[in-house]
Amino acid sequence: MTEAFIGLGSNLGDSVDYLLFARQQLSSLADSQLVATSRLYRSAPVGPQDQPDFYNAVIQLNTSLAPIPLLDALQRIEQQAGRVRQRHWGERTLDLDILLYGDGTLNLPRLQVPHPQLGRRSFVLQPLSDIHPQLILPDGTPLTTLRDACSHQQICYHEDSRWRAGLER
Ligand code: AMP
Repeated sequence: MTEAFIGLGSNLGDSVDYLLFARQQLSSLADSQLVATSRLYRSAPVGPQDQPDFYNAVIQLNTSLAPIPLLDALQRIEQQAGRVRQRHWGERTLDLDILLYGDGTLNLPRLQVPHPQLGRRSFVLQPLSDIHPQLILPDGTPLTTLRDACSHQQICYHEDSRWRAGLER
């Protein structure tokens, strides 16, 4: 089994519903176990500003799926959520990213791991740090170093009873 961290994001429709759907799908993913769920965060969009705020979270899976089958599975979940993507860095119903896949580093046409934006986005670093504050990235950088360097980016904890119910399971 490999420890994989999945980033979840949404800013169209009922975003919390989409993230709950994604978490439910990830919890029943083949050859995988859902190990941990971060808190839910809300942040202003990166890129075009004339779009709704984003909701983000991170989920840890233990999986025996190889990276590309895992990406295929995430893309199927995005499709099931009726993913709409209108422009680069624009609004989307559901975005699922492989942030980390064990200590792996991959640079394939379809898949770069660690995720290329991982080190630059508080909305990923903060929830990742909820789950695994001691995490060291494959290049040896402590997660806390990256998280602290991005701490000026405004994100806020978003309280939602449905999401919290899953944290307490
Ligand atoms: P976006 O919708 O902006 O998240 O980009 C989706 C595209 O990014 C997909 O076509 C994937 O093949 C590609 N991609 C590259 N690396 C990753 C990754 N680590 N996780 C998810 N998608 C990735």
